[in-house]
Amino acid sequence: MVIKHDVIIVGAGLAGLRAALEASRYYDVAVLSKLFPTRSHSGAAQGGIAASIGNVEEDHIDWHFFDTVKGSDYLGDQDAIEYLVTDAHPAIYELEHLGVPFSRTADGKINQRMFGGHTKNYGEGPVLRACFAADRTGHMILHTLYEQCVKNNVRFYSEFFVTDLMVKDNIVRGLVAYNMINGQMVTMQSKVVMFGTGGYGRAFKITSNAHANTGDGLGIVLRAGLALEDLEFVQFHPTGVYRYGILVSEGARGEGAYLLNNTGERFMKNYAPKLMELAPRDMTSRSIQTEIDEGRGINGESYVHLDLRHLGEEKIAERLPEIRSFCQKIVGIDVVKEPIPIQPTAHYSMGGIPVTVDGEVLADGKSQKVEGFYAAGECSCVSVHGANRLGTNSLLEAVVFGRRAGKSLTKYLSTAGTELPDLPTEMVEPALQRVEKFMTKTGKEKTGILRKELQEIMMSKVGVFRDEKGLKEALEKVKELEKRFEDVQIDDKSWKFNTDLTEAMELDNLLHLAEIIVSGALNRQESRGAQSRKDFPKRDDENWLKHTIAFKKDGKVLFDYKPVVITKFQPKERKY
Ligand SMILES: Cc1cc2nc3c(=O)[nH]c(=O)nc-3n(C[C@H](O)[C@H](O)[C@H](O)COP(=O)(O)OP(=O)(O)OC[C@H]3O[C@@H](n4cnc5c(N)ncnc54)[C@H](O)[C@@H]3O)c2cc1C
Repeated sequence: MVIKHDVIIVGAGLAGLRAALEASRYYDVAVLSKLFPTRSHSGAAQGGIAASIGNVEEDHIDWHFFDTVKGSDYLGDQDAIEYLVTDAHPAIYELEHLGVPFSRTADGKINQRMFGGHTKNYGEGPVLRACFAADRTGHMILHTLYEQCVKNNVRFYSEFFVTDLMVKDNIVRGLVAYNMINGQMVTMQSKVVMFGTGGYGRAFKITSNAHANTGDGLGIVLRAGLALEDLEFVQFHPTGVYRYGILVSEGARGEGAYLLNNTGERFMKNYAPKLMELAPRDMTSRSIQTEIDEGRGINGESYVHLDLRHLGEEKIAERLPEIRSFCQKIVGIDVVKEPIPIQPTAHYSMGGIPVTVDGEVLADGKSQKVEGFYAAGECSCVSVHGANRLGTNSLLEAVVFGRRAGKSLTKYLSTAGTELPDLPTEMVEPALQRVEKFMTKTGKEKTGILRKELQEIMMSKVGVFRDEKGLKEALEKVKELEKRFEDVQIDDKSWKFNTDLTEAMELDNLLHLAEIIVSGALNRQESRGAQSRKDFPKRDDENWLKHTIAFKKDGKVLFDYKPVVITKFQPKERKY
């Protein structure tokens, strides 16, 4: 049986739901998610969502524009950034009107807090720009959007794992998914498919990301022969709980928390004297890693301290209650009395599926659109974050560009009509067989072991600092793992809710992405934003002020490039 809808959206995070809400005003919309929608990673976002609405102090769209460009280490596309910071205003008020319970100022306006790299007057000092709902901002927005989608009769297919996309003659035609609940494979046909499939932090050992963040959308796109953009730029968040990687939101530093080394020194004064703990993430993570590498970690170990004690119990209870609660439960630390041991943690993917500012996917990463195929949120690369994302700009991106994609796919259907394109059986069959093969194949390898080896090599050689030797080692290892993956056997032979099967398919996606990340990092011989090469420590605008486009053809990674869109702010040296 083939299931048909006007619009099929894969992913029920902020990007997918915001687009679904928009399109469901006019069309029959289905949302597929491998998780129950409100379990999407967007719900883990603590700190806030940026908008220069200036409720607490003076702020301007142009300041936000400048900060985002500078934060991106000048790799962000400025036409897209201008949409991000301008649309932020209506996007936030829409969320407010839809029912998001934002934290309030004494006079009832949406409250705002500080976040790294967000400044007043073009870099003068931190500004209060992040709208928030205590430290559960993503959770509140996700639940509100989900309720609104239910109200609009969006059809949810929860616990449906999408395995392949059908694109023929550059026209999207539908997809194949595994219904985890009853164990059946399903084929879906649609004129429009949108991906909002999120990030791939699980390629790394220490990560803030949920187990489901395995970059499936990107893996599927690669297999469909389409391009990916700027995958070498992986953000390490400065403050992951030591050994666990669980995120302590930058909201903590926004509220005034300190970073301390083994002598109790606020070491950020040596790296970013003006912004201190509120420097952008790439810089703060490098500073922490340098302290650790040079022996100034606490007790000589691989961590430093994040100290909230001086904020006082009352402020912590009001503004950072979740952080206090999970530190108590997971590490047995009461942040009111003790500092938190932290280390950088793999957090966010700046790169992704190349799209236009209207969310249209670009087959070649440059100009050739795939008709009917859209993407938004963390899986996409409209390049508002360039080489480094500022905190709170990601929820904003998901909402703003989810909304834009929803509007543009609605417009497309209104002119092209909803008549379905042919579903090519010669493409559906191999996609179904691929999953069947996973189930029947015998071999001596296990998914869990290969995944662990992948995460370890990515963490140790493709982390905060990189160099040619380490990257080459990592590339060799990833290729070895890809080879060994051919020998993976799935022991669970039942079709219903087979996590052995889904984990194998997730690892397949992660391995191919990892190859692109490592190859891209090796290829880019400069340091820019989150890509920090010890052997090429300087930014090189002459040769590398350009986006990387990567494909996989006949087992080989191929590169192409496209220029950065610069409209207003010319690249300058980046000091904070
Ligand atoms: C701990 C944490 C805290 C954060 N805090 C902030 C913050 O305070 N502010 C901020 O701006 N950003 C923050 N971020 C980043 C931000 O939350 C994410 O970038 C953003 O929410 C991503 O939204 P999304 O809609 O693109 O994807 P997600 O919310 O990750 O959703 C992905 C969806 O895709 C579905 N999916 C994936 N693969 C498949 C498949 N194969 N088949 C079917 N469905 C699939 C999933 O089920 C899910 O519904 C944080 C991130 C983390 C990890």
